[in-house]
Amino acid sequence: MSNLPPSLVEILQSRPWLRYDTDAALIFDGVRLQDIAAQYDTPCWVFSASILRARARALKAAFSGINQPISMHYAVKANDHRATLAILQREGFGADVVSGGELRKAIAAGIVPFDIVFSGVGKKDAELTLAIETEIGVINVESREELGRLTSLATRLGKRPKVALRVNPHIDAGTHDKISTGREGDKFGIDWREAPTLSRMAARDPHLDFIGLAAHIGSQITSIAPFEAACQRLAGMITDLRADGIAVKHVDCGGGLGICYHQEAPPDITEYARVIANHLGTLNVAISIEPGRWLSGPTGILLTRVIDVKAQPAPRSDFVFIDAAMNDLARPALYAAWHEVLPLHAGGSRKPEKAQTLAGPVCETGDILATDRVLPPLSRDDLLAILDAGAYGAVMSSTYNARPLAAQIMIEDGKIAEIRQRQTLESLWEAERLPDWFKAE
Ligand SMILES: *Cc1c(COP(=O)(O)O)cnc(C)c1O
Repeated sequence: MSNLPPSLVEILQSRPWLRYDTDAALIFDGVRLQDIAAQYDTPCWVFSASILRARARALKAAFSGINQPISMHYAVKANDHRATLAILQREGFGADVVSGGELRKAIAAGIVPFDIVFSGVGKKDAELTLAIETEIGVINVESREELGRLTSLATRLGKRPKVALRVNPHIDAGTHDKISTGREGDKFGIDWREAPTLSRMAARDPHLDFIGLAAHIGSQITSIAPFEAACQRLAGMITDLRADGIAVKHVDCGGGLGICYHQEAPPDITEYARVIANHLGTLNVAISIEPGRWLSGPTGILLTRVIDVKAQPAPRSDFVFIDAAMNDLARPALYAAWHEVLPLHAGGSRKPEKAQTLAGPVCETGDILATDRVLPPLSRDDLLAILDAGAYGAVMSSTYNARPLAAQIMIEDGKIAEIRQRQTLESLWEAERLPDWFKAE
């Protein structure tokens, strides 16, 4: 593969749900994005229900040949809208949650507690209590201390929660530092060398139903080797635990499968399934995976409008100020993430003259959504689509700089629904209270 940035043709080829129609208008899954911008204003998120369904089905199909039961738990944090959760529930997915809030939201979206996995460090007693009382599928314990709290809560509540140990396998997933979770020194999981002792403790504890192991080594993983290493580690541990007389009937391989934002070539889902099947498929364990980004990432677009352009002397790129910012889409500022950008109108003869940098209006130097891009020359009111924004996009939005949360639109088969209204300005300060003593002044 060449190192040249992908051409427009390549960008469209790898995303068959996008095309320009004969009027040069960008069509996303059958819908003219200009129409959505006109009706709902910008910035605005657009999610395709049909792409999400298609990806859910493709993932299921990739694992259909595996000779062990496999369950899939969607990582709710990637996009937690109840419409997304409801679609995936109907496609047979459970939920992987990382807070009591997500647990409640998954249940509110119609996912039964039995199909919910609770992972994540720093679970409060109230959150563990909620998980125990609602009898969720499994609690992935992240430390010796949490195991201790869990057993005392279970004893007090007179319940026997299903428990797995989330191990930190000390594997570098080769992804961005801030989304690596399985290296020695990362805050997640139980040191794999300590896991046998804790597994024995959990298995012997009458108040806990110890079912097995879990690992999640990071996100946006674009090579197969780290998955393979994690599966190998888990398989070895399962064999050792069994040799030690401990029953293991469940293994959770986490999520992390990457997508192509720019020039990455992540493993395809059949290869991913094959690696999991090769290492864990003969162990007579129920296998679970927790995909987030792979399912929802490509299903969302952030629509934005050019406010104005600030020319810069060459060789610097001009600044194009857009009405979406880091408070809407945090990934570029947070992880130096790349999102492909397409104009909503492929303005015919307008040839790129120099590179342009897309900057949001937020008062932070880091509020840049795309740096040095070669696009047709942009001017005021031009509309743009920021691609592959369906995961870790809207969920991470904030109202920094008193910017209301953007509207969210869902499309399917030409139908268009506003699934979240643009936040009103008043609601930004609705919950604020002035101290009583101000009245006296
Ligand atoms: C975030 C997370 C996932 C999902 O990761 P993706 O990269 O979105 O697939 C899965 N499991 C756990 C425990 C997580 O924290």
